[in-house]
Amino acid sequence: MRAYDVVVVGGGLIGSLSALALADAGLRVLVLERAVPGAEASSAAAGILAGQSESKVDNAMFGLAIESRERYVALSAMLRERTGIDVGFRRCGAVDVAESEAALAAIEATFAFQRTKGHNVARLGPQELRELEPRLAHSFAGGVYFADDGQVDPPSLFTAVAQAAERTGVSFRSGCTVRSIRIQGSAEDRVAVGVEVEDGLIEAGHVVLAAGAWSALVPGAQIAAGAVKPARGQIVELALRTPPLDRVVFGRGGYVVPRSDGRVLCGSTLEFVGFEKEVTAAGVAKILAMATGLVPSLGEAKVQRMWSSFRPFSSDGSALVGDAGVARLTLATGHHRSGILLAPATAERVRQHIVEGRLDPSEPWAPSR
Ligand SMILES: Cc1cc2nc3c(=O)[nH]c(=O)nc-3n(C[C@H](O)[C@H](O)[C@H](O)COP(=O)(O)OP(=O)(O)OC[C@H]3O[C@@H](n4cnc5c(N)ncnc54)[C@H](O)[C@@H]3O)c2cc1C
Repeated sequence: MRAYDVVVVGGGLIGSLSALALADAGLRVLVLERAVPGAEASSAAAGILAGQSESKVDNAMFGLAIESRERYVALSAMLRERTGIDVGFRRCGAVDVAESEAALAAIEATFAFQRTKGHNVARLGPQELRELEPRLAHSFAGGVYFADDGQVDPPSLFTAVAQAAERTGVSFRSGCTVRSIRIQGSAEDRVAVGVEVEDGLIEAGHVVLAAGAWSALVPGAQIAAGAVKPARGQIVELALRTPPLDRVVFGRGGYVVPRSDGRVLCGSTLEFVGFEKEVTAAGVAKILAMATGLVPSLGEAKVQRMWSSFRPFSSDGSALVGDAGVARLTLATGHHRSGILLAPATAERVRQHIVEGRLDPSEPWAPSR
């Protein structure tokens, strides 16, 4: 008998939450992580659950974004019950602000499709914007408000998911690089049988590839070279005694995320520089100019920390979730700017694929699209 039903490549949020869903279904799961679980994008993210405020196109991904955002209600309650950890889930709302009447009209037109689908989208004039968020710069012509969007605190979320997974029997192995996915069989009948690591083959009934920005580099992944690549993002964390805002605010070229303890995450850059993990002077200057332009009092804030990590950018902008085209291999990668938002829906699809043997090939993130 094999020791594991499923081996997951990559211990970020996508791999770990999928592992928890599989363990909850009674499977024996091993997560292999090159560094330490949660070391990369999943702890670096701002944690905006921008189901609406970053959905600018009326396509099927919008439905998945809303579904996944709504799954956070039950997920955060379940994690609190099982671990005692508050993952910082708040339906705080998000505002996209505009500098001119024309810009406001353009933003409103972009998001108009959401209103026709019954979602909460409100146009705010300058006075309404000021009443909603008094510390925003007074120069804005207004904004578009998404009351149902929210946020989580990614490091707390990751800790809770990893603890819940371990308590449910998931094994995590840190410092373990997967060298390749072992695939056997003839051209029409290929099947994943496990993964190769430094000390040999780990056999498993199923392999899940969730290696984030590194996914296309794992031999056997069934992902074309360059189809998933790193998109660096930098974040500057500021701190004030009291939060200057209640809601996430998007301006041109960035966002500001207020945590309830006075931390304010300001981000982010989007850079294609390979795996160069620097925080740069230009990146920080751009982020701080954007943040203080939105909220002038942030100029008085303490600079607490800054960091960067790599979003898994997929070449057509949508994640790759589902059947890899090889039996017993599931892809769960390429979530780019929305991996925190989309993690609950992703884990549910991974569970459906492996436990129930079903997946909807017409979903927009099906790898065969
Ligand atoms: C600055 C920034 C801000 C962001 N803000 C948001 C946000 O507000 N909202 C949102 O929804 N999303 C946000 N994202 C995106 C989100 O962080 C990612 O989409 C998500 O974390 C991807 O999760 P993952 O598990 O696929 O990748 P990761 O967290 O990167 O995990 C992949 C793991 O695989 C491991 N690995 C790689 N290769 C191997 C191998 N061969 N063997 C073993 N292990 C391997 C890596 O070490 C890594 O730990 C942001 C990202 C960044 C960088």
